[in-house]
Amino acid sequence: MAYPPLTLYIHIPWCEKKCPYCDFNSHKKTGSLPEADYIKALCNDFDRDFVFANRVSAKSNQSITEPRQIQSIFIGGGTPSLFDPLSIKTLLEHIKARTNYSPEIEITLEANPGTAEAAKFAGYKEAGVNRLSIGVQSFDDKKLKILGRLHTGTQSHKAITLAKEAGFKNYNVDIMHTLPGQTVADGLRDLETALAFQPPHLSWYELTIERNTVFYSFPPTLPNETIAQDLYELGNQKLDARGLRQYEISAYSTKNRSSSHNLNYWQFGDYLGIGAGAHGKISYSNGEIYRSAKRKQPDKYLKNFLDRSTSAKINCEFTLIESDQISIEFLLNNLRLRKGFTIELFEQRTNLCFSEISAKVDQMVSKGLMSRVENHITTTPVGFYMIDTILEEFS
Ligand code: SF4
Repeated sequence: MAYPPLTLYIHIPWCEKKCPYCDFNSHKKTGSLPEADYIKALCNDFDRDFVFANRVSAKSNQSITEPRQIQSIFIGGGTPSLFDPLSIKTLLEHIKARTNYSPEIEITLEANPGTAEAAKFAGYKEAGVNRLSIGVQSFDDKKLKILGRLHTGTQSHKAITLAKEAGFKNYNVDIMHTLPGQTVADGLRDLETALAFQPPHLSWYELTIERNTVFYSFPPTLPNETIAQDLYELGNQKLDARGLRQYEISAYSTKNRSSSHNLNYWQFGDYLGIGAGAHGKISYSNGEIYRSAKRKQPDKYLKNFLDRSTSAKINCEFTLIESDQISIEFLLNNLRLRKGFTIELFEQRTNLCFSEISAKVDQMVSKGLMSRVENHITTTPVGFYMIDTILEEFS
């Protein structure tokens, strides 16, 4: 059995404050952070997860002489840039010593553009990070205030400049659109400002109101459908004209700068998730695929993982992806990609035969929502924006 590529997600769960739209596992920082302990816990968590993942992926009578390679690392949050570069270096060195990952792999760290964070960019580079994802969201101070962000547009300008000066050739700028009170011109101005930096990658995504957020309890007034639609269409035209190719619903990049870490999620690859509330996905040697989740509360996570003596299995919740859900999950991810997927990829990542979904695919092709050219399947331009409708047909 050929296993999918294996990547590593590392979660740092603290932020200066909680943004009203955020439903991530992020916790307001109170007092000083238990940074050293958390790095120690992450190292323990990694050791157990990595050994466990290799054990369940090995054939029962096979000893693990060739551990699976880590293909990319993403340090997300929360706000990882609250951590000192030396802490990140300690963590990466620990992982490197156990996996000997290639120096070529993509190692991303999410950073906020506040002054204190941006001052650390050169240190992260030194620590081994080779890609930054900068959470700008908007350059408009009024919009930033509504979003509860602590930084200003001017600080974002400085942060991107500092990232480039620190030698980050590969970086992402996060911009949100369809913000409260935003006009088409406002949204395009944000995009234009970001594009002036010629970023190799841009995540341009719509503000959505999620459950368990302040915005869910006190919803702001969002732009109407017409504004949202016009902004999306004109924004896409602008991005395309400036050489940023849309390769996923909200992700745009120049040539060869798509995020290999995120591509692995969308292509239904395997990943380890370490840190409070981190999720993982692992293929077992018997063909089963499991999702894993760590304790969400940082203090409980720390309690679990500061002690090296407990096993990975105890501190992690495992859920089997039922066989009737595997193809849906595969499609849910792969249909987000402009390039779609091949029949070989479907069979390799799901351990299912393509005949399980081929009749439905043909049906979607006849409805003009999907296209099939030999063994290659994509959504059509219309279907790309109707993924939920397509998935309902496969359920
Ligand atoms: S900074 Fe990011 S992770 Fe933290 S609360 Fe805001 S949106 Fe959530």
